[in-house]
Amino acid sequence: MQARILLVYTGGTIGMDVNAATGVLEPLDFNKLLAHMPELQDIPAHVDVHQFAEPIDSSDMNPRLWAQLVAIIAEHYDNYDGFVILHGTDTMAFTASALSFMLENLTKPVVLTGSQLPIGQLRTDGRENLITSIEIAAARRPDGRPRVPEVCIYFSGKLLRGNRSTKINSEGFNAFDTFNYPHLADAGIKINYHDELILQPDYTQPMVPHTKMNTGVVVFTLFPGIEERMVRYLLDAPNLHSVVMRTYGSGNAPQLPWLKDALCRAEQQGITIVNITQCAAGPVEMARYSGGFLLKNAGVISGYDSTVECAIAKLMHLYGKSNDPFYIRSKMQCALCGEVTIKE
Ligand code: ASP
Repeated sequence: MQARILLVYTGGTIGMDVNAATGVLEPLDFNKLLAHMPELQDIPAHVDVHQFAEPIDSSDMNPRLWAQLVAIIAEHYDNYDGFVILHGTDTMAFTASALSFMLENLTKPVVLTGSQLPIGQLRTDGRENLITSIEIAAARRPDGRPRVPEVCIYFSGKLLRGNRSTKINSEGFNAFDTFNYPHLADAGIKINYHDELILQPDYTQPMVPHTKMNTGVVVFTLFPGIEERMVRYLLDAPNLHSVVMRTYGSGNAPQLPWLKDALCRAEQQGITIVNITQCAAGPVEMARYSGGFLLKNAGVISGYDSTVECAIAKLMHLYGKSNDPFYIRSKMQCALCGEVTIKE
């Protein structure tokens, strides 16, 4: 029997065209997009389309729209074998990270894709990205179970774990990668799945959709010359629950007494501070240098090898469930859906 796939169109470059008056790319109606893709009829899968009432540039993506995506998937969950989400590239890694937490115990593929050039343009990368994403969402193992039952991004020949992904290129077709996790599959003449790297859910349990996100989080990046008054002002922001702190190298900070004091005070006020390295690859190891040890002593918790996108989404999700700092701390110190590698 043919797999049934729900294609959810949110917007993004893939479905855009040039506005003749302004010369700017703007989202199009999906049916116009389909006119450029007669090949869709030839895919050996049954594909239905659901489009956002108003397609967006993904710069306008937000937690309310993530909740809408979760609701669409939950509503149609039993009627489809897999889901493909067409999404702009700019915030695709944030959406993929958020959905990985919001769709707890996901047992079906959710593949996000898009393109760098609109599908109506001759050299578009959108055609291959879309067709291969549908094929991946429809793929099954010999036992009939889905091949990739997790939230992932397919782009330019690579299938990536969604909550490990980062947009790495604003121009090239090779727009995404996962620096701290290998590819789930590589598509060439064949699609080579790396099955041992793919999450295996508990098929005896239902998928649990979550739609509540608490957005009281901020990202701050350390840099030489950072000023005390700026940091104190940031940490005093009302309703702040978490800070994603982008540190140097393996999780290091300057040894400034005021910084340690400000972080200790924030931690005592119940603010969660998560240490994520500014490096593209490699984990945080706070016990390695004194600049990292200082943070550990101030109560800062390790983000391990998480991306910034994923840390933000995880904190929003966890605080959407509970305000208990001990609960948050314990969940931040384990992998909920393959988002971090924790080496003891
Ligand atoms: N600005 C676009 C978006 O994220 C870029 C893209 O789709 O590639 O919606």
